[in-house]
Amino acid sequence: MELIIHSGTVITMKDGRVIRDGAVVVEGQAIVDVGETSEILRKYPRGYERINARGKVVVPGLINTHQHAAMSLLRGYADDLPLQEWLEKWIWPIEGHMTAHDIYVGALLTAVESALGGTTTVNTMYHYTPDENEAKAFVDVGLRAVVGHVCFSWRKEGDKNALEDLAKNWHNKADGLVRVSVDPHAPYTVDPEYMRELKELCGELNEKYGSEKAPIIWHVHVAETSDEPEKIRRAFNKNLKGGVMEYLDSLGVLDSRVVAAHCVALTDNDIAVMKLRGVKASHNPISNLKLASGISPVPKMLEQGVTVSLGTDSPCSNNSADMFEVMKVAALLHKGVNRNPTLISAAQVLNMATVEGARALSWDSEIGSIEVGKKADLAIIGFVKPHLCPVHNEVSHLVYAAKATDVETVIVNGKIVVENRQLKTVKGERVMKMAEKAKTRLLERLKSNVK
Ligand SMILES: [Zn+2]
Repeated sequence: MELIIHSGTVITMKDGRVIRDGAVVVEGQAIVDVGETSEILRKYPRGYERINARGKVVVPGLINTHQHAAMSLLRGYADDLPLQEWLEKWIWPIEGHMTAHDIYVGALLTAVESALGGTTTVNTMYHYTPDENEAKAFVDVGLRAVVGHVCFSWRKEGDKNALEDLAKNWHNKADGLVRVSVDPHAPYTVDPEYMRELKELCGELNEKYGSEKAPIIWHVHVAETSDEPEKIRRAFNKNLKGGVMEYLDSLGVLDSRVVAAHCVALTDNDIAVMKLRGVKASHNPISNLKLASGISPVPKMLEQGVTVSLGTDSPCSNNSADMFEVMKVAALLHKGVNRNPTLISAAQVLNMATVEGARALSWDSEIGSIEVGKKADLAIIGFVKPHLCPVHNEVSHLVYAAKATDVETVIVNGKIVVENRQLKTVKGERVMKMAEKAKTRLLERLKSNVK
């Protein structure tokens, strides 16, 4: 498609460049020009489809670096519980009854919600199933995704087969929309030996299916709560000398292609290890608050030069896929707990949700900013609203005042996925009906204990 978005405020996220009355030119999947509207309209002939973005702001699509997309079926199923009880008594038992179709439908719902809220890339960790799965759901909605398969010590063989199948069938597939990842669940559910094996397997899969430009990455929960060293000791009889990140480093599994979700209970040495190895953090402030997991030392990580991106976590620990909420909470939380209003500026937060998100997923050569040569992943946000008026600073509004429902049009890989708040790829109402039906059947199976 050839498309010109013009007359809007373009926040490029490249060197702080904001173009008022700016334009973005898209040809095929890519951004081919960015500049002032007058200059662009002179330069490009008629024939390009045009979107008038007057009164609107154009940003790179938001990047959610920690999701469990299929879990939207469990949204509101179990709330107000501590992490371990929530997982062991509620989430894991019902998940045991989820079918491949449930996983597909749950991910479809999350993809729809994400698209409507301006999120164009989602990093999701869940169970891979061959026929219907999260990757298919994201492709059907037209979003970009890194889709993983979550691994546990108790099912090594099954995991390895699933990872091989996932990488073979989905890595860098669907016009490059999908990449895959290897996802050890956490250091307390994956034993040290298996952790190393999964690192080796990731290397092998990269040799077969990955490339320097499009690598298969690692996605793991790390230091979500402060009792994680104790949980590791109980599970594997391993006494940690330092923090959990130091422990993972001692296994030789950390490098710049690791996305560590949560990073709440980190020691100073853990942060030094992250910097040294180039480990990327996914900060999930809403999930951490809801599960009372603690507060991630984000200002310290940023000070040390660690890449910090943002994630929602699952739709039942958040309970939405709304990255605008995450941005606002991230900006507020660290100011409040540190009693320092200068910490984590709006500009830093928007950077975390775009540029740093792309970097966290090792996808920054293609996404995260509006610049020539990058993929056209864009969100256009309507600013003619009482809560976004008057405009002193667009970035401030995006973080502190805008809502996911202000997103009007979303473009992914050069294709319009949402136009004037209408999905172009799937029917949102149909997806919601499918989700209600899947939820009802899932509860019936749980009740009668049928798998
Ligand atoms: Zn998670």
